[in-house]
Amino acid sequence: MPIRLLASEVASQIAAGEVVERPASVVKELVENSLDAGAQSVSVLIEEAGRKLIEVSDDGRGIPADELTLAAARHATSKLVLSSELFSILTLGFRGEALASIGSVSRMSLTSRVKDAKEGARLKVEGGKEDKVEKVGAPVGTVIRVEDLFYNVPARLKFLKTDVTERRAIDNLVTKYALAYPNVRFKLSEGKNISLQTAGDGDRRAIIAALYGVDVAKQMLEVLADDSSTGSETDMQLTGFISPVSLTRSNRKDITFFVNGRWVQDTPLNAALMQAYHTLLMVGRFPLTALFLEIKPEEVDVNVHPAKAEVRFKNQDKVFSFVQRAVRRALLAYTPVPQVMPTLWGSRASSFEPRSTNTGSDWEIAHEGQGTGGSEQLSVRTDQSSVNSGQLSNIKVPLLRLIGQIGAAYIVAEGPDGLYLIDQHAAHERVLFEKLMIQQEQRKIPSQALLSPLVVNLPPAQAKLLTGQLEALNHFGFEVEEFGTNAFQIRAMPALFTGSDPSAALRALVEDFEEDETPLQDEIESKIAGRVCKRLAVKAGKTLTQDEQRALLNDLENCDSPRTCPHGRPTMIHLSVDMLEKQFGRKGAR
Ligand code: ADP
Ligand code: MG
Repeated sequence: MPIRLLASEVASQIAAGEVVERPASVVKELVENSLDAGAQSVSVLIEEAGRKLIEVSDDGRGIPADELTLAAARHATSKLVLSSELFSILTLGFRGEALASIGSVSRMSLTSRVKDAKEGARLKVEGGKEDKVEKVGAPVGTVIRVEDLFYNVPARLKFLKTDVTERRAIDNLVTKYALAYPNVRFKLSEGKNISLQTAGDGDRRAIIAALYGVDVAKQMLEVLADDSSTGSETDMQLTGFISPVSLTRSNRKDITFFVNGRWVQDTPLNAALMQAYHTLLMVGRFPLTALFLEIKPEEVDVNVHPAKAEVRFKNQDKVFSFVQRAVRRALLAYTPVPQVMPTLWGSRASSFEPRSTNTGSDWEIAHEGQGTGGSEQLSVRTDQSSVNSGQLSNIKVPLLRLIGQIGAAYIVAEGPDGLYLIDQHAAHERVLFEKLMIQQEQRKIPSQALLSPLVVNLPPAQAKLLTGQLEALNHFGFEVEEFGTNAFQIRAMPALFTGSDPSAALRALVEDFEEDETPLQDEIESKIAGRVCKRLAVKAGKTLTQDEQRALLNDLENCDSPRTCPHGRPTMIHLSVDMLEKQFGRKGAR
């Protein structure tokens, strides 16, 4: 076949494929246009999960009648003039492609009126072919109706998922925009059912409450950090909400990032976030976040993806560490030491009658700062300039005076503000973990050779797993080699663990590998460290000498995150002086 130019219809359908993949992508482009037009209110109506109809109405500035045809043309935009402006983009759109793309794969109508016009105008586009513009009565703003999406591209229709999935994608999208633009009223309905509605009063926590429930909203920690104060050339601000370590999900779907008002996925920001939560979350758990990064437009390239879902930062390392530190600070400031509230006397102030059915062992753990009405307390300013060492130190544990050990499991200590009960196993786990990670960072984990090498036999499936992890293990000061079929020889283990049973450690590690099918490569090392520490930390049931108890307390005080074990459980419980006084009736009882 000779070379020919593609028919414009074919070309635009091909181009449309990049922008319009599914109903949710249409919703995204239309909502972004409304936001660019300065809308205060954006209403999305869908039918049959968007296949039959997607209609987005706004009260934005509108499109003048004589520009309607242009609006629907490819590469026609009111938002960008010079190529140099590509690197300082302030609007969500700039490619001038969305309306043309949508119009080429659906039956679309644009109805719009600008403020000064007496009446509105409407343009219909069907499969890329435009009608004449007609005058119609319409309120100020724009209504874009997209019917029968992909009616002329059956191949695309086939790729759509079930209605449930497509609807969920739309829900998810509108939800994220509602969170990102709390000053805009959003409404999403399918037929007569309203599935989402926000007030547009700027209250993000209220939106979170509407989306995830009041309980979740109350617990969310506010992040508010900027690095303009450091005098660096990159001005950045991070705002939004993150979940405390006690509130997690089993997947990453509720991790949301916006950069300059644009929803981005797959960014290095996700890794920065996970690093901030590092060792505070249990393996396989993920936080719930809505974070909004504002950065000078010239510091970020938004033109790397047709749907604009990816961005690139000029100075990625800087952005990465800013986000990581801001989140970590907010998090550590609110990693509470659990407070013990005896429920022995009920919660009402007047009743001092012990509940007869209750035994003294009925304790309930409440988290400081997470009670009712705690929402104001939860907000934190993590302005980098204002975080001095004094503030950071309150994240640590206070200096503790050893009192003794109870139940061969807990260490009792006194701090300036009351009594601390420390779980010896969890605390030791934390101590070992941090020591090991420090040694690992410096790439020198001292290894201790065993007096005589030890051979361990494993079932085939486990042996296969272990073989795959040998290299990582050897980084950690283990010297383990394959020793015939399904057998391994241990010749050395980390010096930190001298004295513990090497074969038990190895078997335990393999069992844990089995539970977790696909550890991410970059998480493997810290996971291994966490597991080794868990297995080798002193167990509950072991009596410790005074010196051992004291050493453990000292080591814990020196940890970066002393309040939780590497798997996210608390290492200590705090009985405050205040609480003791209330419980003994020395102070107004609660
Ligand atoms: P882009 O958003 O990249 O400019 P689009 O194809 O999405 O390209 O839109 C083309 C143009 O149509 C926009 O630049 C804008 O001028 C106009 N437009 C689209 N939607 C709206 C709207 N809801 N309100 C006002 N103007 C709009
Ligand atoms: Mg657009």
